[in-house]
Amino acid sequence: MIEYAITDSGQGIAFTDDVIARLLRHSQFDQDTPEVGGQLFARIDRWGVRIEHATGPRTSDVRRLRAFIPNRAAERQEIQRLFKEGLHYVGDWHTHPERYPTPSAVDISSVQDMFRRSKHRLASFVVVIVGTAPLPDGLFVGIANENGWSRLSFRSHN
Ligand SMILES: [Zn+2]
Repeated sequence: MIEYAITDSGQGIAFTDDVIARLLRHSQFDQDTPEVGGQLFARIDRWGVRIEHATGPRTSDVRRLRAFIPNRAAERQEIQRLFKEGLHYVGDWHTHPERYPTPSAVDISSVQDMFRRSKHRLASFVVVIVGTAPLPDGLFVGIANENGWSRLSFRSHN
């Protein structure tokens, strides 16, 4: 389990080892491979958010060197299917071909757009970007809503 702290609330966001392993398998070590990504699903209780499932990449996504365009219909189906298993959509992940990833202006505007347009009861969406440096520095974990975004601080790995 790897954990990040949400400042001010005392709550945290945790990722299971399976999810971390799945994301790191797609690290973009080769500058010429396209970006890939998918969705993040969590169990949510009063102790916080535990991300237990990551989807993607899909063959139906459009992949570019510096961007990828997910298949939105497939995404909606994933959200409905996993909701029946008690897993809530909480955000997205994608790769960057850089050691220490940070969100681009497009990353931020697209998550804010998604946040505004989709039906949900979350205070923010989770944004994960997979870079190539070892953990924790090679992973960007943040939250974003229509008002802005912030990076979460790494808390523990056990
Ligand atoms: Zn990006």
